[in-house]
Amino acid sequence: MSAFYDLVFDIPVTNTSSGHSYTYLIDDKNEAAVGKRAMVPFGRRDILGYIIAQRENPPENVKIESIKKIRRVVDKEPLFDIRIVDIARWMADFYLCGLGQALSVMIPSGRRIIIPQIPDSDEETEPSLSISDEQFNALHEIKSPSIFNMFYLYGITGSGKTEVFLRAAQYMLNEGKSVIYLVPEISLTHQTAQMIGSRFGSQAATLHSGMSPTARLAQWVRIQRGDAPIVVGPRSAVFAPVPNLGLIIIDEEHDGSYKSGNTPRYHARQVALHRCKTEGARLVMGSATPSAEAWKLMSDGGIKRLDLTKRLSGGGMPQIKPVNLANTQGCLTKELKDEIRLTAQMGKQTILFLNRRGFAHFFHCPDCGWELICKRCSVSLTWHKNRGRCICHYCGYTESPPIACPKCGCLEAGYSGFGTEMIEEEVRRTFPDLQIRRIDADTANKKVNNELGEIAVKRNLEDTLTLFKNGVIDILLGTQMVAKGLNFPGVRLVGVVFADTGLHLPDFRAAERTFSLIVQVAGRAGRYFPDSKVIVQTLRMNDPVITRSCALDVSGFYDCELKQRKALNFPPYSKLIRFTIRSKDVKRADTAIKRLASLAEPLIPQGADMLGPSECPIGIINDNHRRQIIFRSPSRGPIHSMAKELLLRYEKDKDVKTYLEVDVDPISML
Ligand code: ADP
Ligand code: ZN
Ligand code: ZN
Repeated sequence: MSAFYDLVFDIPVTNTSSGHSYTYLIDDKNEAAVGKRAMVPFGRRDILGYIIAQRENPPENVKIESIKKIRRVVDKEPLFDIRIVDIARWMADFYLCGLGQALSVMIPSGRRIIIPQIPDSDEETEPSLSISDEQFNALHEIKSPSIFNMFYLYGITGSGKTEVFLRAAQYMLNEGKSVIYLVPEISLTHQTAQMIGSRFGSQAATLHSGMSPTARLAQWVRIQRGDAPIVVGPRSAVFAPVPNLGLIIIDEEHDGSYKSGNTPRYHARQVALHRCKTEGARLVMGSATPSAEAWKLMSDGGIKRLDLTKRLSGGGMPQIKPVNLANTQGCLTKELKDEIRLTAQMGKQTILFLNRRGFAHFFHCPDCGWELICKRCSVSLTWHKNRGRCICHYCGYTESPPIACPKCGCLEAGYSGFGTEMIEEEVRRTFPDLQIRRIDADTANKKVNNELGEIAVKRNLEDTLTLFKNGVIDILLGTQMVAKGLNFPGVRLVGVVFADTGLHLPDFRAAERTFSLIVQVAGRAGRYFPDSKVIVQTLRMNDPVITRSCALDVSGFYDCELKQRKALNFPPYSKLIRFTIRSKDVKRADTAIKRLASLAEPLIPQGADMLGPSECPIGIINDNHRRQIIFRSPSRGPIHSMAKELLLRYEKDKDVKTYLEVDVDPISML
């Protein structure tokens, strides 16, 4: 007895609201089912599809002879149910992508299912701490029936947010409900996963980006069966198919890694909001530096704010001091050097933070201003001393550095700016007796092709962090990774080597990012003892972003920042949708963006406006010329409908040598 099934694929389709599915036929009805994946012929090849519906008859206007057969059903048991399809439908609609594209980011791509043996020895440990009054009150609010179902744990760094999250999770588990615990990428996943593993034992499932598709699928199946009611992981863990969702936790809510960089460009916070609403769950976010969006929601009363104002493990907030970097030879001021020395003499540790990798970031000519930039992208190349090459961080292009300025012949042309390698060298030279280790994207996030290599790189990072935690390393040097939620007991000093990096970027969130990064990295100091210090080196001593971050003045910063956003009509006072065209051919890119703009013009709703068309701030990436249009309106509805209509009209007659990317609520404007 044959049957018809509707499938969707990981391909871009315009007809987003209906999901645009394709009907196939199968002879053996017992094999196929909604929720399974199947290989089917599609055009001239076979591709993997997701079965989203069964039907009695082929759709009208489709001839039965033209319906192809499913070649092979991949899964023995369904991997998803209608609830997952509903989330995917919402995603496709909200983020303007295909239903299959949405499903493919939600469901792990692994094919074989190997359920791991959970060791029996994985004993759960009871929390031994007695919680503070503030923690108690926060927890009480989260647990109590209330008109609120969204909460924000706004607590200074080291104020014990994790303990509140863990207890809220425990409460939900006791109620027979499931919990999703989201953490930013990489470093935190590991630390938090360990903590959750030891507290919840075999009830916990961990997902992370280093996992193989097979391993990920195994966790997915465990979760789906209800064997792991608490799931911890980065962004994509928000899709975990837990039964009876009771709570989603978003730790370090401000973190940029919650927004996907690929289609569909979803934000885990947005998905979490949607799931909590439709599944009747609670949402608890937390950070010392909330995003502008969250801050505004709290001020407007849409989210209930819960404050944690004290450090609980004997620490105090550090003394934070801006120091002028002008007229300093090298990249360490005398103040910073003195403090590093003093810290080491006290038997304590230092973290040096720099938001930039590579030896020195750009090669330029002091005479004519010429600058070495990537041949394929319009960004400066970074000098990597250990490889002897200048490297583009967007496309990977490399070249050897020129001996003289190619424009004017000046021999003074050289490197300026700092990178972690250059600082490492200077620090090693200055403190030959101290143990120094560097972690950054180069050492921690290497693209490794095989699983063994990946494990080796991760081990290396974990080893370094363990050595640092145990006090073997005196100075830890690194990029963003050292700023993210790490909890080390011995850190007395944090040095922000160059706080201004990032303030120059042509992006309206540059101030917010810089502010939050400084406050976060400062928060690594003095978690367990008083009198810790932070030195913030800057060339902009009077910049309010610098002075307010040094004063840890979050509300002062947002008073000012939100006023500016309002005046300039940027989020959170408006909604944006960004359309980016890319093409290898500059003329095609220009033509396409102009066509898009002229199709858009008559559609622009009242009160909305169109920024551009223009070249993207990074005009070329990997030989692709990039052009953009940003649509902006005070509320989402009008531009969202408009964007849908625009996509339909644009796709009708599009140039196949150009690509269109749509970003709803973009967070990077580069
Ligand atoms: P946050 O996430 O707010 O930055 P953490 O949750 O990492 O801070 O907590 C910082 C430290 O405080 C941790 O070592 C934690 O064990 C400790 N801590 C949390 N709650 C308490 C408490 N009630 N009493 C004592 N120490 C606590
Ligand atoms: Zn020159
Ligand atoms: Zn490049």
